Amino acid sequence: MADCLVCGGKTSGRKEVCDSCNRQRIADELAARDAAILAERQARDERVLADRAKAEAGAKAWQQSFLSSISGGKPAFAYKTVYVPIDSVINDDTINGFNIAEVQQLGLAGWRVITVMPRTIGIGLTNMSVGSSVGETWGAGIGGNVAGVYVLLALEVSQSDPESIQTAVEIGEKLIHKGIEL
Ligand SMILES: [Zn+2]
Repeated sequence: MADCLVCGGKTSGRKEVCDSCNRQRIADELAARDAAILAERQARDERVLADRAKAEAGAKAWQQSFLSSISGGKPAFAYKTVYVPIDSVINDDTINGFNIAEVQQLGLAGWRVITVMPRTIGIGLTNMSVGSSVGETWGAGIGGNVAGVYVLLALEVSQSDPESIQTAVEIGEKLIHKGIEL
């Protein structure tokens, strides 16, 4: 029996701290760890809220100045891309269909095609050899095959078209929330 270093009570065997004080120490450590985790989580939540509030304030300020510049007659454009597969042919097989329904739909809604950016695919060809050199060696490749196109469309934002303004405002807010300055 020895005296507990913490409370001065009796300890069992040669232990320096009694069972009761030892349990308390473990409980205190767990509580401290929980408190630290909670504090960290709260700090993170506050940071997220602060960032969101800042982005919302920024978006509101941008929207105001954007709307006033539109009403002042300054031109602005909204852009989007649509992917259209092309009926590419490889070894006589058509790999995709071709359908511009979505582009047409946007055209009727005022979107103008600005340009198209092809998406290409490359296929590596290898030769199988058996015998003195067993394995696979590079043979030829076919690259640059157009699989489809990204169609870039623009919508002119104008005072006479409230829908275009709404579209532009939504795009602008999304960019600001992504941290992109306008
Ligand atoms: Zn004790």
